[in-house]
Amino acid sequence: MSDKKKIVVIGAGWAGLGATYHLVKQGYDVTLLEASPYAGGLVAGWKTPQGRSIEAGIHGFWYPYQNIFRLVRELKLHPFTPFTRSNQYSPFGLEASSPIFQEKPILPSPLGTFIYPEFYRLPLVDRLSALPLMYGLVDFDNSQEAWYRYDKVTARELFRQYGVSERLYNESFEPMLLVGLFAPGEQCSAAAALGMLYYFILAHQPNFDVVWCRGTVGEKIFQPWIKKIEELGGKVLTNKRVTDIMIDREGKAGGVVCAEEVFEAEAVISGVSVTGMKKIVNNSQNLGKYQEFRQLNNLGAIDIVAVRLWFDKRINIPLPSNAGFGFDRTTGWTFFDLNTLHDQYKEEEGSVIEVDFYHANQLLPMSDEEIIKKVHQDLILCIPDFVSGKIVDYSVVRVPQGVTHFAPGSYQHLLKVNTSIPNLFMSGDWIITNHGSWSQEKAYVTGLEAANQTINYFKEGKSANIIPVEKDEPHIEIARIINRNIRSLTKGFLPDF
Ligand SMILES: Cc1cc2nc3c(=O)[nH]c(=O)nc-3n(C[C@H](O)[C@H](O)[C@H](O)COP(=O)(O)OP(=O)(O)OC[C@H]3O[C@@H](n4cnc5c(N)ncnc54)[C@H](O)[C@@H]3O)c2cc1C
Repeated sequence: MSDKKKIVVIGAGWAGLGATYHLVKQGYDVTLLEASPYAGGLVAGWKTPQGRSIEAGIHGFWYPYQNIFRLVRELKLHPFTPFTRSNQYSPFGLEASSPIFQEKPILPSPLGTFIYPEFYRLPLVDRLSALPLMYGLVDFDNSQEAWYRYDKVTARELFRQYGVSERLYNESFEPMLLVGLFAPGEQCSAAAALGMLYYFILAHQPNFDVVWCRGTVGEKIFQPWIKKIEELGGKVLTNKRVTDIMIDREGKAGGVVCAEEVFEAEAVISGVSVTGMKKIVNNSQNLGKYQEFRQLNNLGAIDIVAVRLWFDKRINIPLPSNAGFGFDRTTGWTFFDLNTLHDQYKEEEGSVIEVDFYHANQLLPMSDEEIIKKVHQDLILCIPDFVSGKIVDYSVVRVPQGVTHFAPGSYQHLLKVNTSIPNLFMSGDWIITNHGSWSQEKAYVTGLEAANQTINYFKEGKSANIIPVEKDEPHIEIARIINRNIRSLTKGFLPDF
């Protein structure tokens, strides 16, 4: 390309970095502006003054994150642990253990997901009450129509309507919603619940298998990735909070405002979170004129608290990755043995434990000391050996309004990659895409989609090849075809339930 097109990308999370990397590879002149001192967004890691690595929560990479896995191979990085098993605890102790599903004989989905985990207390009859929910999973095919159909209903109502037992809901589905969508069922869209559960758990037996970074994602993936972006000529500037997007007389984006600075651009890509975008819109001289941006104020976000604890001695923790339920009614939590997962802590004398709370609204006002006390008590209920451990250091990271809230009725307010401003493209884990992925993989995929729309707009460069999610298994595909046909046949004379 002789005359390089100038692109500004806002926000250096998976989405913004994904868009930036692809566009610099295609010869664009890209400047990525990040508000905070570190790139990486929710996945950034940093060090305490004592040199200890911390981050805003541990991040798993599930089996279907094929675009991220390909990126990591392309960058010649080896950041991941092997696939890990996980345990689930309640205040009564160990409740369930999950195997590595791909190591078990593969059964038609979702049979393996129901048969292979070991449940120590949950009766079979409760587990069987999930079967009618299969219809919801068949009916929800990630299409726009399906989103509108199910988005009006809460996930709690959906599980009740399908006859899922109270106990199965409380001990299995609600903890998954709290960890996967960061909210309890009565505050989650049923569409988001079905989409998330299908992607992570039910579509294919190995989907629930997960690997972790052998350190912070910041050091293991983002730092070398940014180095590569810079080698290719991209600029990644931190401490640059974008306050407005400039729109010219023709209704096109002409650049961004960053406090006193202006960065001119021929196209702009946003990779910021819902909360970040709302702040830009509410401060903007321009975006408030557009209904699609004004209505972002109908969207919400959820609070997170991430705690890292250093103990004086090693505590025997059976598995590195663990989830808890039944401790706080509307808060989910997970805990991780970092001596096993992170290279840095393998030789550490005492245990290093990460504990992440999702939908942590009521924890935010507590002091660090109160939070640490609560965490220690909860850990003791799960694994009594924690009683003998003394906490010698800790970090508490609060992320208010950090993650997207897929609330009932929120779908109508979410943005797509293309906006009514022809050269302003959106990306991030809250942007509508047909891809079917969630969380980090979705953020990265929508970043690539935004890059592809930029390429399409200028007709210069090669689009990124996005790996689609694995096809539905044949029996699900057939069930979906039959269901669609029945729906369209009965549309004329039956009310739409
Ligand atoms: C505790 C926790 C645990 C999680 N666990 C997992 C997990 O196990 N697996 C998984 O896949 N996902 C997990 N997630 C979700 C995952 O972190 C997100 O889906 C993903 O990181 C979103 O990436 P993003 O690029 O869309 O947005 P973000 O990571 O939010 O990045 C947006 C960036 O934009 C920047 N920004 C905002 N406003 C401005 C502005 N005005 N100007 C410039 N920059 C701005 C922000 O500083 C940020 O760096 C977890 C999240 C949390 C909080």
